[in-house]
Amino acid sequence: MKVELIDISVIFEKNTDVEKVALSNINLSFTTDERILLVGNTGSGKTTLIYLLDLLIKPSSGKIFYDGTNPFEKAYNFRKEFGVAFQIPERQFFNETVEQEITYAAKNFGVSYTKEDLKKLLISVGLNEEILYKSPFKLSGGEQRKIAIASILLHNPKFLIFDEPTAGLDLKGYLSIRKILESFRNQNKGYIIATHEPELFMDLCERVITLEDGKMVSDEVIKK
Ligand code: ADP
Repeated sequence: MKVELIDISVIFEKNTDVEKVALSNINLSFTTDERILLVGNTGSGKTTLIYLLDLLIKPSSGKIFYDGTNPFEKAYNFRKEFGVAFQIPERQFFNETVEQEITYAAKNFGVSYTKEDLKKLLISVGLNEEILYKSPFKLSGGEQRKIAIASILLHNPKFLIFDEPTAGLDLKGYLSIRKILESFRNQNKGYIIATHEPELFMDLCERVITLEDGKMVSDEVIKK
């Protein structure tokens, strides 16, 4: 899929005295088989850009095209292609059991899966089947993060978006995120990783986009 942002700005609380320009005149295009590192300090606009790409907010001005069409008209279809982990994704839990949490997106998007798929998925994030029947709210922080990551993968997304994936993760958790990204790369699938610690994922990306104070200040291809 081709994603095009043309002269996009996002302004929060427009025309008030707390008006904030979160993104300013962004011109960006990429295809969803690219592996992109989105770098910038806290407050530079990374999360806002991710919300926009996941079609959760609309731009204040500018145009967005997914495969040449207005994605907001078919947001469900486009969102199905994405697996998006927001910062501290476990805060978005809302189901009674881990199984419901992990299978929610697949059910919502009408994607079938087998028990075996579920089992493999759990193993890939370092968990086992026993956890399926527990409440996601009663797990350790590390287990919750693993469940949150698993819950964006079962519907077989073509493109991952991770917002600060290492926040609060231990080394094992970091390594399991790298493994997931490596497996996407091996399948020629892409991702965007937003981070203020670029060195942690630089080697897994081919393009680095830098935001500063809502502006895109560089867009570089990394030579390998
Ligand atoms: P980053 O993810 O790089 O830390 P954000 O996209 O979260 O940056 O934020 C960019 C700027 O927009 C910040 O100054 C932030 O305070 C502001 N901002 C983000 N969301 C909102 C909102 N819903 N209302 C008002 N200001 C916001």
